[in-house]
Amino acid sequence: MNVFLGTSASSGIGIGKAFVVPKQEKRIIPRRKILENERQIQWENFEKSLANVVVDISQKLDASKNDKIQSQLYETYFLMLNDPEFLKELKNAFYSHSLNIEFVLDRQTEKYAKKLRSSGNEYLAERAQDICDIFGKVLDDLLDFHPFDMDSIPDSCVIVATQINPSDTLILSKRKIAGLALTEGGVSSHVGILARNYGIPAVFALEEITSQIKTGETVVVDGDSGEVISNPDDEALAQFNKKIEEEKINRLLLEKFRNVKAATKDGENFNIFANIGTVEEAQQAVQEGADGIGLFRTEFLFMSESNAGRSNLFDEESQFIAYKKVLETMGKKPVTIRTLDAGGDKFINSSEIQFKEEKNPLMGLRAIRLSLANPLQLKIQFRALYRASVFGNLKIMLPLITNVTQVEQTLEIAKTAREELKTEGIEFKNDVPIGIMVETAAAALTADCLAKVSDFFSIGTNDLTQYTIGVDRENASVAPLYDEFHLAVLRMIENTISEGEKAKIDVSVCGEMASRKSSVLVLAGMGVRNFSMSPKMICPVKELLSRYSVKELQNISSKQLNSL
Ligand code: PEP
Ligand code: MG
Repeated sequence: MNVFLGTSASSGIGIGKAFVVPKQEKRIIPRRKILENERQIQWENFEKSLANVVVDISQKLDASKNDKIQSQLYETYFLMLNDPEFLKELKNAFYSHSLNIEFVLDRQTEKYAKKLRSSGNEYLAERAQDICDIFGKVLDDLLDFHPFDMDSIPDSCVIVATQINPSDTLILSKRKIAGLALTEGGVSSHVGILARNYGIPAVFALEEITSQIKTGETVVVDGDSGEVISNPDDEALAQFNKKIEEEKINRLLLEKFRNVKAATKDGENFNIFANIGTVEEAQQAVQEGADGIGLFRTEFLFMSESNAGRSNLFDEESQFIAYKKVLETMGKKPVTIRTLDAGGDKFINSSEIQFKEEKNPLMGLRAIRLSLANPLQLKIQFRALYRASVFGNLKIMLPLITNVTQVEQTLEIAKTAREELKTEGIEFKNDVPIGIMVETAAAALTADCLAKVSDFFSIGTNDLTQYTIGVDRENASVAPLYDEFHLAVLRMIENTISEGEKAKIDVSVCGEMASRKSSVLVLAGMGVRNFSMSPKMICPVKELLSRYSVKELQNISSKQLNSL
């Protein structure tokens, strides 16, 4: 039995067989001119790779006969690989240019996917990703590239890895992952946020864990103490299983809070919203009794583990479908959808949005800055959002705002989107509130000015802490400095709340401070009445607030504000 000590990132106990993830690489597609005499051999190579993938998919199809969803997917892949129209167009394109087959295949796949997305047919639009995925496999075969396939991670395992890129985190929602043990990642890193959303126990900052644990070994992730135990003995295992049972009972007791309004014991009400990153999580938010969605991180729609190196779905139709589904799931409850917060550490594979190498990406072209540098894509996102607006109670939120001009420029783009839809006779709601995230010192300290152009504020304490203290939220080596209770952070929050109140606009907190019991009490005492958090935390937070009076909460926060 070995015990490794790290930092707790998501509470609970997870037990499972370890799966050690190998280091990841990206597919690079070369573009080169070819000679006439290379053409034939290149086409034959393509046909060989195509045949290899057909064999692979046929085997997978046979093996998945009992899994309806998987076998449907393989059948779709199979049809696509044999699609005569696609293959004919590919051959024509290849024989009419003097470019290598890998490049032409990649370009044709994207062209075909775009056609499907803009077909106006929901089913076909959803197939666009499938065509990218399956011909991506042909490309990998052609390039003799063997990326680690995150899909091969088995259900119920404990993932042991150096890190998990935000673009790979979708695996966490697809598999019943028992636990996460990572070398890198801070508590407010995106993988940490998602682990908490899905209730996956996680421990980060575990040095060299990937070389010390082997795939197949039994591992316990203790997200409460920050320990990871490999090959536990019987006695330890029994104790951990007992803790798991106790936690289950505890959750059952909390269930009675699911359908009640959050309130203090003296009757002060709170709105408890959910943070989500995928369409499916809206369902989870409903099940946990959320008052709405306080933050939908739309960038996660464009990050997929299965298509590294390939353009992603960033078209209006796919976005519209996703936003509409979330709004319909939530009914009359408010749904705050945030415009793209890509860049920095959140890389999206998009041919429409170009990412440049940056020396300091977190200070660079990310979030609203990236969207304003790509106004066409921002307009597309607004068009999709406005089209979806008629299906529910939508609010739109802008990330990483640092000045009034950015808001004004964005509002102009939103206006253009509305004007276009009006001209085209497409229905939308004209009065969708547009608010901003307060997540930089610049925004917090000029909240009075920003309140004049914003319909609401939502405080992003993750970035606010990162930028105020100057500490990378993803970097495990500076994690002890990442302090949400730093007086500077609390004062920024205080100023934002007070300027929001003066301007009579709603202020909420959607950063991770809203998901932590200790900080919820402090924030509630400071006057926050709207919280948005990981769905799993909704019932525990409702229960917590019910134990205090407003006066008691105020005492807690004034103690915190007066301590250094
Ligand atoms: C935040 O910064 O607090 C926030 C909610 O946004 P994200 O975590 O997506 O950067
Ligand atoms: Mg942020």
